Amino acid sequence: MLNLVLFGPPGAGKGTQATYLAKAYQLIHLSTGEILREQIAAGTEIGLLVKDTIQRGELVPDATVIDLIQDKLDKNPEAKGFLFDGFPRTVPQAEALDVLLVHYGRSVSAMLSLEVEKKELMARLMSRGTTSGRIDDADLAVIENRIQVYNDKTAPLIQYYSKAGKYEAINGVGTVQEITDRLRFYIDKLPLNKKSR
Ligand code: AMP
Repeated sequence: MLNLVLFGPPGAGKGTQATYLAKAYQLIHLSTGEILREQIAAGTEIGLLVKDTIQRGELVPDATVIDLIQDKLDKNPEAKGFLFDGFPRTVPQAEALDVLLVHYGRSVSAMLSLEVEKKELMARLMSRGTTSGRIDDADLAVIENRIQVYNDKTAPLIQYYSKAGKYEAINGVGTVQEITDRLRFYIDKLPLNKKSR
């Protein structure tokens, strides 16, 4: 079973790479950002609760995203594996994911961290903002805030997964294909035969 965390700051290319990797390894792609945007678009209670937070570039409460992930794990008991994209984003989320996965006889195989410098991230997000239609891609101050929130609350996960021996840094600059190849190089080296890795 392969359960991957695709990690990196906003604009690192997680979504793009996740689409390729999920297909290549037959994993269920779980993007909390996508799930939350679907909730907003559908006008659900959760969507209404999180819209302002997302618009400001802040993180929605841990309990909200953990519940959403639990629901997806519950609904996919036969999955070959999962590709977590944009989750976990805080240490409590990572701890909750570990507990949840144990419940399903799984564990995180690796955390693959796409490394991209701030200047490049800003350029990518500004450019994406012209086409994505995302409420949090449109404003320079919000983009700056998302990167700040990443540095303050999400980057500590590097240490969390390093301690567990699961952190792999991957250069996130290059063509989409080059970056996919780098990711696949690491994934293909993971020992998959054991139940939990
Ligand atoms: P993303 O599509 O991953 O860039 O996420 C867009 C926005 O959704 C983030 O800026 C947060 O406001 C919210 N979000 C997505 N995933 C999480 C998460 N794991 N924890 C808290 N907030 C999240």
